[in-house]
Amino acid sequence: LVELRDVTRSFPGPPEVQALKSATLSVRAGDYLSIVGPSGSGKSTMLNLLGLLDRPSVGEYRLAGVLTGDLSEDERAAVRARFIGFVFQSFHLLPRRSVLDNVLLPMLYSGVPRQERERRARDALMRVGLGHRIDFSPNALSGGERQRVAVARAVVSGPQLLLADEPTGNLDQRTSGEVMDLFEALNADGLTLVVITHDDGVARRAGRSIRIADGRLTEL
Ligand code: ATP
Ligand code: MG
Repeated sequence: LVELRDVTRSFPGPPEVQALKSATLSVRAGDYLSIVGPSGSGKSTMLNLLGLLDRPSVGEYRLAGVLTGDLSEDERAAVRARFIGFVFQSFHLLPRRSVLDNVLLPMLYSGVPRQERERRARDALMRVGLGHRIDFSPNALSGGERQRVAVARAVVSGPQLLLADEPTGNLDQRTSGEVMDLFEALNADGLTLVVITHDDGVARRAGRSIRIADGRLTEL
């Protein structure tokens, strides 16, 4: 599904920073991959590249067989909307919208009719165990519940690839466990996951782990 080949991402300086150095990575459909590494090692840079939020300075990235470097920004946005879901450490929910509205949001311009959008959003919320919270404000939810709303929003459009950057960074151990259980269930249903984490326990839940140190990958 994902093929990174000799990808370098440098940020112009001075001093110039090579956040990723000649990274090569394959992720097959159905894989569950964790990425660990110290602060500043290039983990978010990697995830931003995989998510088409950023472009390599050197090297190529093929997603589902498509050479992404050849795509325009509009085409990249379309691929992103269709193939990729994102989960972040700080949830990124809209506090003034209901839980249901937050989950509806990614489908707004998808061409899916309104009733079908609602059905899918409710299904996604049931899936994460929050069917009883659809009319709540995200502010009224616990951290773990907020992250589960974020997961529902990330999967509601039926992506093939879920990218998570420190999804349990703001959660306690028990709540982290709930989010991990959810990831495992989604993976069992065929979703491909790439999860960045500082937490060895979270990393071990993945079928495969890679480490990034100073922009270089090693398989664990
Ligand atoms: P953390 O665990 O703290 O989130 P990380 O592994 O996600 O760290 P990155 O955010 O990928 O680290 O950053 C890797 C390196 O690239 C760092 O040295 C960082 O300062 C640099 N960097 C990242 N983004 C930019 C940018 N937009 N401009 C300049 N330098 C950047
Ligand atoms: Mg980061």
